[in-house]
Amino acid sequence: MAQSRLCSIPGCGKPVFGHGWCSAHYSRWRRKGTPLGRDTKIERKCSVPECEDLARVRGWCGKHYQRWNKHKDPSETNGTERGAPLRFLTEIVMNHGGDECLRWPFSTDQNGYGRVRYNGQTRRVNGIVCELSHGPAPSPKHEVAHSCGNGAMGCCAPRHLAWKTHTENEADKLVHGTLRVGERHARAKLSNDQVRKIRSLAGTMLQREIAGIFGISQSQISEVVNRRTYASIY
Ligand SMILES: [Zn+2]
Ligand SMILES: [Zn+2]
Ligand SMILES: [Zn+2]
Repeated sequence: MAQSRLCSIPGCGKPVFGHGWCSAHYSRWRRKGTPLGRDTKIERKCSVPECEDLARVRGWCGKHYQRWNKHKDPSETNGTERGAPLRFLTEIVMNHGGDECLRWPFSTDQNGYGRVRYNGQTRRVNGIVCELSHGPAPSPKHEVAHSCGNGAMGCCAPRHLAWKTHTENEADKLVHGTLRVGERHARAKLSNDQVRKIRSLAGTMLQREIAGIFGISQSQISEVVNRRTYASIY
């Protein structure tokens, strides 16, 4: 199919150079970590009076566009301007450099994940964002992981997304809601499920990596794995 050799950025149409992108989009991704740099757009101010932010979609900044969108049912597609979800994806989501979650304001699947029509297919937004930010999935075993744990809330913030294997992703999900990721507890109290999970991961990952997932020290992981602690749990 000749189409598959064209850059995957909507509307680009140049031949593929690497990662499914043309040489311009590929080299911008190498330089900036995203194929869609801000320097490609003509910058205009938001059309809401007194707003100093730059216009992104429909002449509004991201904040005012989202506010307008909030009054709609996020699962409703009728009444959404044609092409608006795709523009929101390329212009707002891919330029969202913040650390906070970004909720997909358009249609979602029954699990709460945003979806969009993209290059002729209806796909999950988080998969597209992960691809545009990090390149294609390293293997068919990889899935999109949300560091914030808010995938089912429709979060598609590029900084929250990464490719992880199913095992890594499930381990992360177990941690969300129990321990805050990244926080170092000298001696965190672990649930029985977490103890079992740590032991089952021990054969497949480094203790240092498991410690990173659970946000506890490597020495505590070692004690759990070697049954010096939680010895009664099987
Ligand atoms: Zn391109
Ligand atoms: Zn504005
Ligand atoms: Zn998030």
